[in-house]
Amino acid sequence: MFNPSEVPDISKLFSFLSQPLESAVDLSKAQLKKITAALGGKVFDFLVGNLPESYETRFLVTKFSDFERGQIATFKAKVVSVKRGFGKIPSYLKVDLAGSLVTITFFGKLGMIYCNLYKEGDEVLISGEVSPKSFAINLVNPEMFKFDEGWKTLLSGYIPVYKNIVGVSHLFMLRTAKMLVNTLSQYSGEWLPDGLKKEFGFPDFVESLMNLHFPHLSANIDELNDFKTRWHKRIAFDQLFFFQFGSQFSAIGMRTDKRRRIKTESDLSVSVEKNMAFELTKAQKRVLGEIRGDLASIYPMNRLLQGDVGSGKTAVMVLASLDVIASGYKSVIMAPTEILAAQHFKTISSMVPENIKIELFLGGVTGKKKKAERLENAKKADFLIGTHALFENMEFMEDIGLIIIDEQHRFGVSQRMKLQSKSVHPDVLVVSATPIPRTLALTVYGSTEISVIDEMPPGRIPVTTRLVKAENRFKVFDFVTEIIKNQNKKGYWVCPLVEESENEEMKSEMKYVEGVYEEFSQVLGDKAALLHGRMKGDEKRVIIDRLKNGEINLLVSTIVVEVGVDVPDAVFMVIENAERFGLAQLHQLRGRVGRGKDKSFCALIAGSDISEKAFNRLDFLSKTENGFKIAEYDLKTRGPGALTGLEQSGFKNDAYFLLAVRHGELVEKARIFTKTILASGDEEYIKFCNKVFELFFAERFNRFRAS
Ligand code: ADP
Ligand code: MG
Repeated sequence: MFNPSEVPDISKLFSFLSQPLESAVDLSKAQLKKITAALGGKVFDFLVGNLPESYETRFLVTKFSDFERGQIATFKAKVVSVKRGFGKIPSYLKVDLAGSLVTITFFGKLGMIYCNLYKEGDEVLISGEVSPKSFAINLVNPEMFKFDEGWKTLLSGYIPVYKNIVGVSHLFMLRTAKMLVNTLSQYSGEWLPDGLKKEFGFPDFVESLMNLHFPHLSANIDELNDFKTRWHKRIAFDQLFFFQFGSQFSAIGMRTDKRRRIKTESDLSVSVEKNMAFELTKAQKRVLGEIRGDLASIYPMNRLLQGDVGSGKTAVMVLASLDVIASGYKSVIMAPTEILAAQHFKTISSMVPENIKIELFLGGVTGKKKKAERLENAKKADFLIGTHALFENMEFMEDIGLIIIDEQHRFGVSQRMKLQSKSVHPDVLVVSATPIPRTLALTVYGSTEISVIDEMPPGRIPVTTRLVKAENRFKVFDFVTEIIKNQNKKGYWVCPLVEESENEEMKSEMKYVEGVYEEFSQVLGDKAALLHGRMKGDEKRVIIDRLKNGEINLLVSTIVVEVGVDVPDAVFMVIENAERFGLAQLHQLRGRVGRGKDKSFCALIAGSDISEKAFNRLDFLSKTENGFKIAEYDLKTRGPGALTGLEQSGFKNDAYFLLAVRHGELVEKARIFTKTILASGDEEYIKFCNKVFELFFAERFNRFRAS
């Protein structure tokens, strides 16, 4: 299919890409250290992992009369005089542009630096804003450098804008990029076969990177800024392909006989299903079937189960577990917190017959004797529910057949790998309520099989959502106070408090929440309470309990109610300045109501200065209850950073990862390509791909999977 040894330069390209950044460019080591700390140490991490976030056009000024006040001007000039400043007195450089004098003013230290760098007669390239107010043409603190050949590109192409790294100037990033791209341009070589590139219209690897860092002015600037060029697609495909390759290739290694034969649809599980208070939904049945297929297979299961909150994942988990137990093996469910583990234990105990031995296994046990006791009990149990404390003890329990990990993102892949490498090869089911769209899940999990419960149990009363304009806030206010006073209803009023906001902003937002609280307490007295993130855990719990048991009816709150608040008879959720939240986050907030028998409402109050785009997003949310569709929409309109659940996982700021996710439409292609290669028996190429994977992708791949 493709023989890398026929490409003479590929080894040079490889060693360049894997070279430490600090040895590849001849610039300040201190600054480079900061870059590598932020991006990773290899040239690859800079060139591929750090694609520009946007591009700027600089207006090229060739004669004095082209200058306009306020414009970002870029021009070549000759230094005429240098007048060094001191303290508060600025430095002035006069430069000559085609016979006319232009004044450049530098304030403070910067002036000293530039006055040392340049002298009369030097040719320089200057780029900066022409002072809007000054009478004469004057530029203050512009970017300025010696006009050597290398910087000519700055005049003929777009200027890349890189992610801001604290302590590294943008000019320094530009210089680094320029040097690297200059070296890169001498190499060729490629890991994708010509046939594939032709089929998808992908350009070469080197060509793509050169164009992405320093695109020519003839490139389509809108496509560039939207990450939509063919170069973007090509580079995105690389990651999608190698992630798939990495997981499928390693999965082949894991395809050992698990030496355990499970009879599915066992009498035990079938009778428990019959005795349930409800019939499984079609989606639950389908998903259970998929899991049973894996259980019955001779290979260990590695599956991701996804379903919106309330979609009924527990029933599926229990029925699958019972099949395993009926065949004589242990089933284990691991929850991220003790509270959730205890909750599961309670629910599940009430679902399974009494002759099934079910145990709760938590951490925090001290003393040898107590620990031994805990382990003995666990060894005897059929069904174990616990926290990650279980991980440390699993090797002593060789009859484990199935491990279910609820709420996947808190468990690391290294822990999972640890399980796989033991002599036991348990079936593993990872369960998640975070609505990650399929394409995103595939990007992150590679070839892991995915089952989705995409249907809610019947009989749930949908939450009515209304989008309200800022000027109608008073109507919502009146409605809420009315149903509290006359019908004793309960609910939430949420005001945004941006986590990372500046102190001043934070203060004013706290004032805002407090103001809203005042507003309500004037009408409702002590039926309203204030809840915010700065309160202690105990304080918060006390207030939530007061809402639960009816002492109060209204929580005026910041975002803290998003997770873990369960008040079944709360019927309204009002969110002010809703456009400041991500849709997935709003969906989670809305999920706080509609949990009981009564009709529930959600009002999204738009800010007064809301953009049309933001308004449309909220409008979409008000018409959709499906968490996956909402996540998909969020992903399309705001990019992956907007998805809740990703924040914790460290994806949020990885430009390369975000690029791959933006091109989710290529996931399926990457999958097919991977399968074709692995099935082709072309060992040379497979080995070669594995080398590329190990060199450039493995670290990043493991980092994501571990989160
Ligand atoms: P989650 O997917 O969030 O873990 P749960 O498994 O806790 O959801 O289920 C939410 C609620 O829905 C539970 O009270 C459960 O008993 C109920 N439930 C689950 N499946 C069905 C069904 N097929 N029909 C009716 N109710 C169901
Ligand atoms: Mg659950």
